[in-house]
Amino acid sequence: MSLLLKWANAFLCVMKENQMGVTYSFKKAALNAQKTMALLEDRKIKKIPQNFTIWFEYLSDENPEIKEVVNRLIAERGKFNDEVAQQIYNEFFSHEKESKQIRETNRLMQQSMETLLREIRCSSNGLTNYEETLENFAGSAEGSSVDEMQHMVARVINETRQMSAQSKILNESLNQASAEIDILREKLETIEHENLTDSLTGIANRKRFDMVLEEYSERSKNGDTSMCLVMSDIDHFKKFNDDHGHLFGDQVLKLVAQTLHNGINEIGIAARYGGEEFGIILPETNINKAIRLADELRESVSSKKLVKRNTGTNVGKITMSFGVAQFDPKESINDFVSRADQALYCAKAAGRNQVKTFNSSMQISA
Ligand code: GH3
Ligand code: MG
Ligand code: MG
Repeated sequence: MSLLLKWANAFLCVMKENQMGVTYSFKKAALNAQKTMALLEDRKIKKIPQNFTIWFEYLSDENPEIKEVVNRLIAERGKFNDEVAQQIYNEFFSHEKESKQIRETNRLMQQSMETLLREIRCSSNGLTNYEETLENFAGSAEGSSVDEMQHMVARVINETRQMSAQSKILNESLNQASAEIDILREKLETIEHENLTDSLTGIANRKRFDMVLEEYSERSKNGDTSMCLVMSDIDHFKKFNDDHGHLFGDQVLKLVAQTLHNGINEIGIAARYGGEEFGIILPETNINKAIRLADELRESVSSKKLVKRNTGTNVGKITMSFGVAQFDPKESINDFVSRADQALYCAKAAGRNQVKTFNSSMQISA
């Protein structure tokens, strides 16, 4: 009998310790995310990824250096403004680090949540079995006094009920926290997507272009596949803006972006490189196919008839020039882009609305 009591007590202790241990890391991450949101709200700080990242790190207590710099800059400047945020951000989080950080936070939260869920399931099963065992025991035990028996059983059942209740509370807080984490994860996904998308045209932005080019160039170095790059630029776009207005120019940029994006389909990726210049990365594509594709895109852009929606005025068409280069695994990415740019420059110099391929007589401009 006393053995059973010991066993019951030991079991309860393990259960309690387990629950405390498991909830600790999970609660810490979820709590920190909640605290960060609350702090941004309280201090009326803009809820943008940059600020979330800074304050999440600040509150995590794992980076005393950032805490010190944030406190110092706020003391010096009087408040946490965009300038302070940018300075801290540049110092502590590079662009790449930011995406990694977001992913890492996401991963940690998910991991903690899964562990906790698993543990709670085990605990609940354990409790059910435990109660059943005790109830069976209360009905059939022999050899000890009835008083002793009743006392022991009452105590253990009582403790078990308490554990059940605790487990329910834990379950409820888990459900609430997991809903919050889901929202947070969705937000992080949106942030990541926005981070890599050009806001005007909706296609990949320069950051994504750089990332993809880096990734594909590594693949190209390791394998035998050829990769091509097409740099393209709208012809005489300044005059177009002057003649028809910047807003209409923006609409044309959107149209061009979609035409390029749809034109290369799944073959590669079209990105807004900057202003009215677009970069098209074509992995696993040889130079002849890339030239053909570029010419199809050129044709497709120049065949669009531009009509002003509000007045119905036909404003003719726009054309684009293209420069194509094939990746040499021995060259740097900068040289690769420069060569495609050089070919584009030649297409402009040769009269625009055409495709030129880099050849060694062209100069690489740094
Ligand atoms: P070229 O044929 O030599 O490329 O001539 P260009 O006029 O296109 O080149 P230039 O570099 O002189 O001018 C680029 C123009 O692109 C000027 C700028 O106003 C316009 N531009 C850049 N970004 C945007 C934008 O986001 N919206 C609009 N509407 N125009 C833009
Ligand atoms: Mg131009
Ligand atoms: Mg340009």
